[in-house]
Amino acid sequence: MYLIDLDDFKAINDVYGHSAGDAALVTVATRLTEIIQDRGGMVARLGGDEFAAIIPGSGSEEDAQAVGAAMIDRIQQPFMHDGILLTPSASIGIAQAANGPDDNGDTLIKLADYAMYQAKEDGKGGFRLFDAEIGAHVARRKELAAALPFAISNGEIVLRFQPQINLETGALKGFEALARWDRGSDLLQPNEFIEIAEESGVIRVLDFYVFEQSARRLTEWLDRGSPRLTMSTNLSARNFETDDLPDAIARILEKTGAPPELMVLEFTESILIANWESVTGTVSQLRKLGVKIALDDFGTGYSSLSYLRKIEVDEIKIDRTFIADIEQSEETLFVFDNVADMATGLGKSLVIEGIETQRQNEIVTAHGGQIGQGYLFGAPLLPEDAEEMVFKKDATRTAS
Ligand code: C2E
Ligand code: MG
Ligand code: MG
Repeated sequence: MYLIDLDDFKAINDVYGHSAGDAALVTVATRLTEIIQDRGGMVARLGGDEFAAIIPGSGSEEDAQAVGAAMIDRIQQPFMHDGILLTPSASIGIAQAANGPDDNGDTLIKLADYAMYQAKEDGKGGFRLFDAEIGAHVARRKELAAALPFAISNGEIVLRFQPQINLETGALKGFEALARWDRGSDLLQPNEFIEIAEESGVIRVLDFYVFEQSARRLTEWLDRGSPRLTMSTNLSARNFETDDLPDAIARILEKTGAPPELMVLEFTESILIANWESVTGTVSQLRKLGVKIALDDFGTGYSSLSYLRKIEVDEIKIDRTFIADIEQSEETLFVFDNVADMATGLGKSLVIEGIETQRQNEIVTAHGGQIGQGYLFGAPLLPEDAEEMVFKKDATRTAS
């Protein structure tokens, strides 16, 4: 069983129009048919940009790999449509009949689907055969997906607070709250569960939970006479799919008594591309509540200047991939310089992520960086360690 899923099909439709999308589907279908019919098999379109193919008889693993490679090869040949050169790409998952007791069409499609998913994760444009490793990976994801909805009510989602520093004065400016999943024996990092939470939609509850817990923490510190620090939390793109985000945030602000102007909501620029209208609407409603908005991981996506000009963000966070090679690369430094100028020119504050060395700190500070976040100043800290930092004598400069 071969499952063939086109890569970035939506982008073809969005960028070149639906007739180009249709042409890509027809071309891929024809090419698959050539390859499969030659071998006595059949191809069907499952819907959307997904195809399935079967070749009867029990071929070897090598046979299946050869077919996978042939399909990838053929699919990726460029073709002309209406004067545009299109180069399709697909990811393919392959599952072979083991002739076991539960060896039926449904199981095979499922296993091929897992393998296809893995092919996408491997970076698209390739094929994978289902194997024990993929099986274990999928099983682990399923286990986490099943447990995650209960993690929040069980108090297993815990927070770490990473300091943000005013680069000019060295004073503590605030924290970014980052989620961890405490499974007793295992402390899971966001890269192991955020995507799973996004797939199931649990992310909405999780993000609100993190916002509420960190708002409580900040309020408690302020009540005990802490400086007016800021508290940033992350919002997944999925929170922008419905229009109840501002209400939910307003309720939590009220419930916790946190000063809105000290709370910063971070989201990544990727969400601007698909839903510009609704996102800008939501953002201005959020800002009416008094909270601040930050554009996270700036520089990793499209980083369109026109977005920056039009969206009401208060803060731009430059991604750490920029900083990583700022000591070596003139180009990076040049881009950094310009982004810093632009941010300042537009009246936005500039947070530099991922500062790990003193040299990086000096460079970004000399080139217009205002606020720094990175291992040089502190890793994401346990609540009690963050608290110690808050009430340390020399960290009393306040944030605006
Ligand atoms: P982010 O919002 O860009 O958070 C910064 C990440 O960079 C954190 O990873 C932090 O530990 C890491 N980092 C900070 N300084 C340095 C440094 O100097 N060097 C290096 N190598 N890394 C540094 P973390 O905590 O693993 O979080 C990863 C991502 O997961 C976050 O990226 C954010 O997108 C997401 N995330 C974390 N918590 C939440 C949450 O509550 N909700 C949502 N939706 N996403 C979250
Ligand atoms: Mg962030
Ligand atoms: Mg970031």
